[in-house]
Amino acid sequence: MKRTVSGHVLVSVILTVLVVSMLAGCAPKSATLDAIKKAGVLEWGSDPTFEPFEFIDANNKPTGFDVELVNAIAAKLGVTAHMTSGAFDGLLMALDTHKFDLVCAAMTITPARQEKVLFSIPYYRADMGIMFDPSKNTISKPEDLVGKTVGVQTGTTGDISARKIAGVKVNSYPDIQLATLDLVNGKIDAVVNDYPVCTAYASTHPELKVIDTTTIAGEDLTQLYGIAVRKDDPAFKEAVDKALLDVVADGTYATLYRKYFFVDPPYLPK
Ligand code: GLN
Repeated sequence: MKRTVSGHVLVSVILTVLVVSMLAGCAPKSATLDAIKKAGVLEWGSDPTFEPFEFIDANNKPTGFDVELVNAIAAKLGVTAHMTSGAFDGLLMALDTHKFDLVCAAMTITPARQEKVLFSIPYYRADMGIMFDPSKNTISKPEDLVGKTVGVQTGTTGDISARKIAGVKVNSYPDIQLATLDLVNGKIDAVVNDYPVCTAYASTHPELKVIDTTTIAGEDLTQLYGIAVRKDDPAFKEAVDKALLDVVADGTYATLYRKYFFVDPPYLPK
């Protein structure tokens, strides 16, 4: 008898949940998404010193692959996107304190970051790059950096990887542009940073060379970028993933990829 009663209770709870979720359009509830839709604006954070992913154009406006990708994701959510700039190293902290609701910053999905945030499905794959001036240094592999001074951006995977090579002096900079400036001025020997960003920079600095690096100190350096959201709202991550897949499905992703990387995407987010 007791069992039947709890069975009935269970059935009505399940029915209530089903009806409520049907009314809500079947999507799980996201407080973040609700607030964004109410405001009509998706507030997001990035560090626009990372061309071609995010940078400030000649008209002083943020642009780049990530910027246009987030704009397209926002459009799928029925809102516009507004970017707030901050140093890369502080972006996840600012996300946590609700300064914005999403971070898109060529950010590699790492286990340490996954402890703090939820990442979307990966949207880009990158190798690491070593950039240097061949008239001043001979470098063909990561081990050749031993005894040299290397510039990195604070808190990035480049920073972490460069420190894994014993005997390398690592100078950390708040943004990668300051590191590349010191490289051009001969104050440091090399820059360790995401390969696509190195090649974009070297394309306007022909005196520099970039080596495509997939391992450092025996560790795989293939990086998958993800869009970060707060850990307490998995339903928002689902919504971002769905919007991202919609942006892939309608061809926008491939168009943006060709625009910023000059080739067809070798990998489609899925
Ligand atoms: N992909 C690198 C990282 O996540 C660098 C990102 C960046 O500097 N914007 O650490």
